[in-house]
Amino acid sequence: KGADGNYTVTMIPGDGIGPEISQSVQKIFTAAKVPIKWESVDVTPVLKDGKTAIPDEALHSVNRNKVALKGPLATPIGKGHVSLNLTLRRTFNLFANVRPCRSIVGYDTPYEDVNTVLIRENTEGEYSGIEHEVIDGVVQSIKLITKEASERCARYAFEYARAQGRDHVTAVHKANIMKMSDGLFLSVCQDVAKEFPDIKFSDVLLDRACLHIVQDPSKYGDRVMVMPNLYGDILSDMCAGLIGGLGLTPSGNIGKSASIFESVHGTAPDIAGQDKANPTALLLSSVMMLRHMNLDAQAKSIESAVLQTIAEGQVLTGDLGGKSTCSAFTNEIIKNL
Ligand code: NAD
Repeated sequence: KGADGNYTVTMIPGDGIGPEISQSVQKIFTAAKVPIKWESVDVTPVLKDGKTAIPDEALHSVNRNKVALKGPLATPIGKGHVSLNLTLRRTFNLFANVRPCRSIVGYDTPYEDVNTVLIRENTEGEYSGIEHEVIDGVVQSIKLITKEASERCARYAFEYARAQGRDHVTAVHKANIMKMSDGLFLSVCQDVAKEFPDIKFSDVLLDRACLHIVQDPSKYGDRVMVMPNLYGDILSDMCAGLIGGLGLTPSGNIGKSASIFESVHGTAPDIAGQDKANPTALLLSSVMMLRHMNLDAQAKSIESAVLQTIAEGQVLTGDLGGKSTCSAFTNEIIKNL
């Protein structure tokens, strides 16, 4: 927070529709008088010692400000390119990925009562990138689970539950099969649970959780689910599907020294530069960011205006079945603030 009372937040507009939806967020923040100054940075990767890295200016900005909002980034297809999203996660040690999915009134799906929160371990598990060929035709991929990373993620899940008024944390795992790796994750969760006597703790097998959620997502509406990397990657997209897809879902990558909030969808190259993009996912990510910064009143005001605009159904972008532009949708949200 600066002497003028404003917080400085790093903005990574991203590629494709990124700049359009970032502009929409900035316009709405100005109208809502949110005490934030943006510092825009470019994260087009540079090569450092032969490895993909983010430019120093962006690195310093995120380290200095500790909070960033990020649009989608294009990952070039082809060998040798490490995903920039993965690079960001590793560079800032963003250990937990938080994905809330809540049904949106005005956007019909087969479910009306989804309100899930999923926290995914973000740094290891099946995505440690340790793979090798044993002999021709036989490969191994190592799933790495450490007590340290599991504990950090589990503790964050309990803290998040407490802060959000959810009274139950459920660990999702396959410790019946992966007795050592998932077994360690589960036992760490059980230990951390003892530090939070006000929060209930339970665990469920991943396959069972999938079945339960598609049968009746409301059963998981009271709690926070926490799980290793790969399970979280898959289950969070499944939950996003229940509320209408990735275009509406926000997320937060939480780290010890910095956190980056981002829309889950990609750069939408098919509609980029045409003022057709839906800024909702980035807006809801910015709402998560405001709550993370304890700016709850501003978060509530913007969230209500976005949801009201969608519920009214008069000014909607194409993906929501409307004919309006991103700019018109943005202006309607400002009217509803
Ligand atoms: P995508 O999410 O960009 O697009 C899929 C479809 O959804 C397209 O038809 C697109 O028009 C639509 N869509 C997505 N977001 C929308 C929005 N906000 N408003 C309206 N319509 C929207 O997925 P893709 O085509 O598989 O990926 C394109 C690029 O994005 C790739 O380079 C990929 O690597 C990258 N990507 C980045 C991230 C990220 O930075 N977090 C995530 C996913 C994909």
